[in-house]
Order: sequence, then C-alpha cells, then structure tokens
Amino acid sequence: ALSIGIVGLPNVGKSTLFNALTKAQNAESANYAFCTIEPNKAVVPVPDVRLDKLSELVKPQRVQSSTVDFIDIAGLVAGASKGEGLGNKFLGNIRETQAILHVVRCFDNDDVIHVSNSVDPIRDIDIIETELILSDVQVLENRVERMAKQIKGDKSFGPKVEEGRKLLEFMNEGNQANTYDKLDTDIMDELLKDLRLITSKKVIYCANVDENGLTDDNDYVKSVMKLAEERGAAFVKISAKMEEELIGLEDEEYQDFLESYGVTESGLAKIIRTGFLTLGMISYFTAGVKEVRAWTINDGDKAPRAAAAIHTDFEKGFIRAEVIGYEDYVTHGTEAACRAAGVLRSEGKEYVFKDGDVVHFLFNV
Ligand code: GDP
Repeated sequence: ALSIGIVGLPNVGKSTLFNALTKAQNAESANYAFCTIEPNKAVVPVPDVRLDKLSELVKPQRVQSSTVDFIDIAGLVAGASKGEGLGNKFLGNIRETQAILHVVRCFDNDDVIHVSNSVDPIRDIDIIETELILSDVQVLENRVERMAKQIKGDKSFGPKVEEGRKLLEFMNEGNQANTYDKLDTDIMDELLKDLRLITSKKVIYCANVDENGLTDDNDYVKSVMKLAEERGAAFVKISAKMEEELIGLEDEEYQDFLESYGVTESGLAKIIRTGFLTLGMISYFTAGVKEVRAWTINDGDKAPRAAAAIHTDFEKGFIRAEVIGYEDYVTHGTEAACRAAGVLRSEGKEYVFKDGDVVHFLFNV
C-alpha cells in the first residue's frame, strides 16, 4: 500500500494531524476490511468523487476506496540519529515508507511551547533534515564498508562501492540523497532500492497553521512554500486542529464548516491527493454489484501490472481487460449500456491504464 511517514519537530501538530487521520480511519472502518490496526498507523480512505458516482449507479453491497497508510513517526529531535530520544527506532520506521510528510509549525501561540523557543519553519526543517541525512549517512557508510570487504570474493561489488562512496561524500557535505544528480543510474537504483535512504524519498512539506492562517498565507507559510518550490517538492497548508473537528461531520455540516474557514477542500483530502500525485499514483475501478472498488496503481502501468493490484496471480494469468472510460461509464450508466454503445473496449497486455478506467479482467488461474 501507499505509505507516507509523518515527521516534524515536537509540538508542531503531528499528533493532532495523526489523530484526525485515525478518526478518518475509524469513521469509515465499518465499510472497509482493514487489516491489523496498529497504534502508529492510520489507514485512510482516499476521497474520490468518481467512486461515489459509480456507487450511485451500480448500488453495490460494498464500496471500497483506495487507502493510504500514514505512519506517525514521533520522537524525532535534534540528535535522533545518534539515538537521542527514541530516535533510531523511529528512523527505521520512516525508511519503510514511500514518501515523507514533513509537518512544520507555522502558527504563533504562546501557550504552545516551541522546542527551540521561537517559531522558525526553515530552521525547524533544517534540524529534522539534518537528522535524516545523518541517519542515511550511517546506513550508507555501513553498507559501503561491508561491500568493500566483499570485493575480494566478488568483483561486481567494485562499481557499487565506488558509486556509494561518491554519494557518501556528497551527503557528508550536508546534502540530501534526492538532490544528487547521478541518482538515476542502474547502480544507484539498485543501491537505493536496497538501502531505502530516507532523504531519497519524495517530500511533501506541510505547513500547519492555526484557524486564522487558512485564508491568508502568513510569512511562515510563505517561507515554507518558497523552500518547497526551490526543492521541487510538494506543499500543502492545513490546520491540524480544524481537520480533527471536521471528521464525522455529515455532508451539509461538513461543507458549512469548511466554508466558515474560507476553504473548499479539507486538509486531509489535500494531503492524500498531493501524496498520490507526488508518488505518481492513479486509480482504476472495478464496478460489480457485490463491490465497487478503487485500486491504486502507478501512472504508466500496463494492464497485467495493474491487474496485480487486485491479486498477484492476475498478472501472470492475465488474458485481457474490458475497459470503459470513467466518463463513458457515467454517460451510459451501466456496463451493458456501454457495451451496446460500443464504448467497452477489449484491451491486451500492452494497454496502459488511464486514471479512472472502469475495468473487468479476464484471466487464467
Ligand atoms: P506534536 O508534538 O507535533 O505531535 O504536536 P501536537 O499535535 O501535540 O500539537 C502541539 C500543540 O499545538 C497542541 O497544543 C495543539 O493543540 C496545538 N496545535 C496543533 N495544531 C494546531 C492547529 O492547527 N491550530 C491550533 N490553534 N493549535 C494547534
């Protein structure tokens, strides 16, 4: 599953945001077959109006959204990479995620103590990122040293060690892995897939503002936006507290609540949408009377790979896919009507899935 690790200094609003995410999980859990519930993980449904629309048309017994796993990585402080606080254990947890949501405090409040006694988003980001780099450097260094010892027995380690050392030198100068300009070589690919360096992941900078900060961007917010832009990273602005209050409100109340803050979309929806975009994910749908469901795949996946989202066996046994574009489905209303109108296409192994495709697979088991 798509997973995003939440990082940030203490007292910036991570727990408040994570609580909101957990509430969003629980609010929907009656409808979803969630696996194990873990204290630091929230499995959150991806809001998608297309899924709602399809459900309206098909009226299935069950509706299932795509989900995103959010992992709360508490305990990151200056010195975490040296094991200060509960640092290293948490750093290990981030390594497993696909993207990072970096929560930054962008509100003043004398009642909420800031660990460094002042609100300064850029400094805060730097403190966290320094720890992440230091942690990566340790991991990379260990691996490079281990591989260096293996060269004697297996020469193929040579180039990897050489490339690894260059990256290490670069990172030792305080740089994040994802700014290294020779990242897309095969050797680097292999090394990074294996090491899962935290700073090689995509980052979403998340400015947490108070209720007043939602309509106008304060200077803190502007500085984070600028930094995100310079890094080519994603940015979202939220108010964690408002998110908590939003969960559980029904349609009209929900809209009124958003409007009262002068926004049109919830922060959670923004984060999830941004996460999807950042990771290059799209959704396709299956629409049967038993279940209407969204499936998450990589943008660019061909049909057999897309089928594997449902079951790994589907990839090998793939024969073909019957595909209806989302708009066509909505226009004609049912699969039968789409077939009659000639908009149901039979696609083979080379078909690249489009966002919103409504699909029926044929496969060998
Ligand atoms: P964490 O240490 O990063 O998990 O931070 P918390 O979520 O515990 O938040 C620290 C403090 O900031 C708490 O007192 C929150 O109520 C407050 N806080 C967090 N987000 C917001 C927000 O969006 N608006 C306001 N007014 N206060 C917030």
